[in-house]
Amino acid sequence: IQKEIKTVFKELGLEETNHGSFSGKWHSEGKRDIYTSYSPIDGTQLGKVELSTKDDYEEIIAHLQNAYSIWSEVPGPKRGFVIKEIGDELLRKKALLGKIVSLETGKTQVEGEGEIQEMIDVAYFATGVSRQLYGLTMTSERPEHRLSEQWIPMGIVGVISAFNFPSAVWSWNSFIAAVCGDVVIWKPSTKASLVAIGVIHVIEKVLERLEMPQIFSLIVSRGSQGGEWIATDHRIPLVSFTGSIPVGRKINTTVSARLGKTILELGGNNAAIISSRANMDIALKGLVFGSLATAGQRCTSTRRAIIHEDIYDEFIKKLKAAYSTIKIGNPLEKGVLVGPLIDREAVQTYLSAIETAKKEGGRLLFGGEKITIPGLENGFYVKPAIVEAKMSMPIVQEETFGPLLYVFKYKTIEEAIKIHNSVPQGLSSAIFTTDLSEEHLFLSARGSDCGIVNVNTSTAGAEIGGAFGGEKETGSGRESGSDSWKAYMRRQTVTVNWGKEIPLSQGVRFDF
Ligand code: NAD
Repeated sequence: IQKEIKTVFKELGLEETNHGSFSGKWHSEGKRDIYTSYSPIDGTQLGKVELSTKDDYEEIIAHLQNAYSIWSEVPGPKRGFVIKEIGDELLRKKALLGKIVSLETGKTQVEGEGEIQEMIDVAYFATGVSRQLYGLTMTSERPEHRLSEQWIPMGIVGVISAFNFPSAVWSWNSFIAAVCGDVVIWKPSTKASLVAIGVIHVIEKVLERLEMPQIFSLIVSRGSQGGEWIATDHRIPLVSFTGSIPVGRKINTTVSARLGKTILELGGNNAAIISSRANMDIALKGLVFGSLATAGQRCTSTRRAIIHEDIYDEFIKKLKAAYSTIKIGNPLEKGVLVGPLIDREAVQTYLSAIETAKKEGGRLLFGGEKITIPGLENGFYVKPAIVEAKMSMPIVQEETFGPLLYVFKYKTIEEAIKIHNSVPQGLSSAIFTTDLSEEHLFLSARGSDCGIVNVNTSTAGAEIGGAFGGEKETGSGRESGSDSWKAYMRRQTVTVNWGKEIPLSQGVRFDF
C-alpha cells in the first residue's frame, strides 16, 4: 500500500501534507489545523490535509463571485465543451483517481474506478445538456403578447458530500451546475478529503489550459464547520447536501431559515421483494450485489429482503451459501468483493445494531462479527450479517451503514408492499418477479413509495441518465440525469407586449 500511495500521489500532484483550500490557487500561508487521513484497508497513514479557516472560506467566496461573473456569460454549449474536456482528462486519469478512492474509502478497485467512470459519464451527459437548457413558449391570453420562460444561472452552488461516493456525487451536482452557468464550492467528507484534492488538482489544470475561470473551489474542514459556513451563507442560493438524515435535517433547517434552496440526498433503507415467481438466479445475484457491494455502504444498499413464504427456506439457504463464497479483504486484491468499513466507529455501529436486533427478537442467521485479515490487522473488516427480523423491531426502521441485511417472510404481494413501505426512508426499491401483475402493482400508486424503483435488478447501481433521489426522510430533489438540471437554474417567466396597447390579464380594466 505504501508503494501504491507514492505512485498515485506523485502522478496526481498530492504531497505528504496537502492544502485543503482552493480558490483558483491553493491556500498555503499561515498555520492551519491538520487532518490526517488513514486508509481503512490497513490503517496506513495516507497523507495530511491543512484544514480551511474562515478566512480561507471568505477568500473562496470572493473568488467564486468573480468567477461567476465571467462563467455565467460563457455561452452554454461552450461551457459544455469545457466540461467535456474535463471528462476526457478524468478518463485519462481514471486508474489513478480510482486508486485513491480505493485507498481512502476502502472500495474495491473496480468500484473505485467505477466512481471515476461515473464522473466521466456525467461530464459527457452534462455536455449534451448544455445545448438543451430549454424553456417553453406558452400562448398568451392577451393580443400581441409573447409568453415564455427562460432559465438563468443561479450563482454559487454549495455541494456538501458524503464519504461513500466521495467524488461521483459531487460531479452529479457540479458538472450539471457548471453547464447551467453556476460555480461551485465543494465541502467533501473529511474522511475522503484526499480524493477531493486529487480531483480538483486534475480539473484545475484543464481549466487553466482552456483559459477558463476556476469554477470549482474546495474547502476541507473537520466535522460540521465548513458545512455550517455554507448552510448559513446567503451568498449561496442553493445547497446540495448528501449524507445522513440527522445532518441533512440540520442543514435543511439552517438553509430554509434564510429561505435558501436545498437538494437533500439522505439515507436509504432499501428493500427488495423476492416473489415466488422470481427468476431465482437473478434474484439471488441482485440481492447479494445490493447488500454486499461497497461493504453495504451505499445509500442504495439493500438492507431488507422481503421473501415469499413458499421459497423462503430454500432462498435463505442459497443466500447463506452465496454469502460464504464472497471474499472479504484487501479491496485492491483481485477477487475480493467486500473491503473494509470506513472506520472504527462504523464497525462499532454495525456490531451494536446487530446486538440491538438480537435483543429486539431478531435471529442472526449469518456472520455479524468483526474479523481480522492477516497482514491487515489495523483495517476495519466485518463479516456480513443476515438477520431474520420482524417489522415490529425498531432497529429495522434505521439505516445501519454496513453489510447488514434483514430478511422477512410474506404471504401476499400486498403484505410485501406494506412491509416495504413501512420505513421512514424512501430512496431505492426492487421487486424480483416474472409476474406482470405483481410488477405493475409495484410500479403503481399502490406500490413502491421510493424515488427509485427497479424490476428484476438490484436496489443499488443506478445509471446517471435517470434523475437520482428519494422521498420521505431521504429528502427532496433530484440529481444527475433527466431534467435535474432545472434545480440549478432560476426559472423566469417572460411576458413581452409587442403591441401599441397595454391590455391587462384576466380582462381587468384600469382606465384613467
Ligand atoms: P454524514 O452525514 O456524516 O456526513 C455528510 C457530510 O456532512 C460530510 O461532508 C460531513 O463532513 C458533513 N457534516 C457532518 N456533520 C455536519 C454538520 N453538523 N453540519 C454540516 N455538515 C456536516 O454522512 P456520511 O457518513 O459521510 O455518509 C453516509 C450517509 O450518506 C448515509 O446515510 C448514506 O445513505 C448517505 N448518502 C446518501 C446518498 C443519496 O444520494 N441519497 C448518497 C450517498 C450517501
